[in-house]
Amino acid sequence: MPLFTSLEEALKHFFGYDTFRSGQKQIVEEALQNKDLLIIMPTGGGKSLCFQLPALLKPGLTVVVSPLIALMQDQVDTLQDNGIGATFLNSTLDYEEMRSRQGAILQGKIKLLYVAPEKLLAEKFGSFLDQVANQVGIAAIAIDEAHCVSEWGHDFRPEYRQLKLLRDRYPQVPILALTATATKRVRQDIITQLGLRQPQIHITSFNRTNIHYEVQPKDKKSYSQLLQQIRTQSGSGIVYCLSRRSVEEIAYRLQKDEVKALPYHAGMTDERRTINQTRFLRDDVQVMVATIAFGMGINKPDVRFVYHYDLPRSLENFYQESGRAGRDGEAAKSILFFSISDRQKINYLIEQKSDPSEQRIARQQLRQIVDYAEGTDCRRTILLSYFGERFRGDCGKCDNCLTPKTLEDWTIEAQKFLSCVARCQEKFGMMHIIDVLRGARKKKIEQYGHHLLSTYGIGKSRSIAEWKMLGRSLLHQELVSETNDGYRILKLNKRSWEILRKQRSVQIAVSDRPKSEPGREYNFTKAEAEILFERLKQLRKQIANLHSVPPYIIFADSSLKLMAQLQPQTLTEFANISGVGSHKLKQYGEQFVSVIREFCQVQKLPTPLPSHSQMATLQLHQQGLNVDEIAQKRNLAVSTINTHLSELIEMNQPVALNRLVQLDKQQRIKGAIEKIGADSLKQIKEYLGENYSYVEIRLVRAWWRSHQQ
Ligand code: ADP
Ligand code: ZN
Repeated sequence: MPLFTSLEEALKHFFGYDTFRSGQKQIVEEALQNKDLLIIMPTGGGKSLCFQLPALLKPGLTVVVSPLIALMQDQVDTLQDNGIGATFLNSTLDYEEMRSRQGAILQGKIKLLYVAPEKLLAEKFGSFLDQVANQVGIAAIAIDEAHCVSEWGHDFRPEYRQLKLLRDRYPQVPILALTATATKRVRQDIITQLGLRQPQIHITSFNRTNIHYEVQPKDKKSYSQLLQQIRTQSGSGIVYCLSRRSVEEIAYRLQKDEVKALPYHAGMTDERRTINQTRFLRDDVQVMVATIAFGMGINKPDVRFVYHYDLPRSLENFYQESGRAGRDGEAAKSILFFSISDRQKINYLIEQKSDPSEQRIARQQLRQIVDYAEGTDCRRTILLSYFGERFRGDCGKCDNCLTPKTLEDWTIEAQKFLSCVARCQEKFGMMHIIDVLRGARKKKIEQYGHHLLSTYGIGKSRSIAEWKMLGRSLLHQELVSETNDGYRILKLNKRSWEILRKQRSVQIAVSDRPKSEPGREYNFTKAEAEILFERLKQLRKQIANLHSVPPYIIFADSSLKLMAQLQPQTLTEFANISGVGSHKLKQYGEQFVSVIREFCQVQKLPTPLPSHSQMATLQLHQQGLNVDEIAQKRNLAVSTINTHLSELIEMNQPVALNRLVQLDKQQRIKGAIEKIGADSLKQIKEYLGENYSYVEIRLVRAWWRSHQQ
């Protein structure tokens, strides 16, 4: 293995990247010190690298626990395509294959081994692992999707609980636990259930800075809106729908409208689903129309857009689903279609639930997603506040931030609102507070004696909608809190008190949002780089088909974009592109460089178009007139016509050179140019002598130039 002077050098060598993403370097350093780690990063944050790079730099085998076979396959393919010894063992392999892979591991040829948790715990496998520990050593155990150990997470898998046995069996081996979702509760669970030892905890912000968020009103015309927008996009996308029926319908309509789209939902056979998924991963189709059954286990990094055609169940779902866009860090967007009737549909479903506490939680989840859809604050602020992260707003990458709006000072109203919360002893939700402020005559108010409060009726001048807007915004800006038990009881926090003490002012974004114009700002102009990008994508697809892998395994979109912009024409220049590691350079360098070279040469050909006057000359020439006749007819000098003709030749226009210069003379002139170059007419003339005119030389030189590249 080569020796590296820095981690950056190793990063470039194995993965082709120039810089670490936020958090990665420190994690790698700590992993190299054999510390236990808990790593919480949003989807696309770059978790894999956190255990893969240390695995390559340490002696021994790193065992990676991963719950999904499809994900394993994908990660192993990606690693192998970087020339890294990686493999997986699971129930899909036959005996022979299993033996040969185990052999390779024991010979130390493999640095990363992916296994499913149930496999890892099987007895037979245990003795194999002991053998590995003795012969090559176990460098670390990485547990991906670690939230699966917790009943409090969204994807509990009992077999994950057993993983603690590994800690007991190999106490010296450090454990890295990784996940994209973890509330405090889940986090604690991971630490105890896996028996992590004073783990370093790394939490990266959940802000997905490359995703543009937008909400569009949904009405009868939404399908055509969707269609029109998809047509202006390049790259892959997902359209999420709530029901199987609407998945089928939208997929069918898109196909009829000549968008390459396929459906995906739990009602289809496994086989059909796998086929559709593979066709999407390999860019054979552009759009997947799916229920939420589609997504877990999809690692496609270059999804450029995610539509929610129907309202998602919760903000958490929305975050995870929209987060499948842009895992590669390139620009991507999330669009939610929202209508009041969708909200009523979900409400109806909730009412069908028999368990009141389930109902309560579902209702709260619905309100949170509706708040996102109807909110006037920065969408990112709203989304991140759900994860307990405060975001200052003004992201410049969501519809609310991009729509001109006025910030109004609502400090006085906020004080009224919050003091009403205080006087109701922080035991009520927003609607009740608003009722009290507006002096509503309701039984509930009298029951609690709230009509006697000093804040009763002090907010009559504002409508219910305005108070709601304020309340919502206070929540999003975390200027007030609410309980998370389904009751949504408002609680004052540190910042609420600052407002009440007049130490903090409150700004509210008030906008009458115009309907969004479909596809604005995403229409691209097909500039040169854009054309080359498409060309490189074709090459990538050809290679991917040849190897039966998805195109992103070969190169990420970001690498192709860089190639299109920087247009490296030598292997050395090509090696500098981010994403080109030493292995990929060897594998694909020649092919990509030659496409780029060819493209550059074609671009540099003179391709200006003839002027009107030149075209007039060309026409007469094509009618058979000689130079003198053309000059006479056009009332121009003979020399002008000669200039026209040589310029036309240089522009590759159909001028019959043979009618202008005798064939043998042409040969001699070409010979002279090849000998002494084309730069100086005078030198060529001197070389050729009296019998050759400047006009003839110029015409032939034009022809000669048009045939050079
Ligand atoms: P996660 O598992 O956190 O969702 P991945 O590990 O799949 O994310 O990484 C997401 C994408 O980012 C992958 O395409 C990966 O190759 C890329 N990536 C990771 N680290 C870097 C880096 N330092 N520079 C550039 N790209 C990176
Ligand atoms: Zn914003």
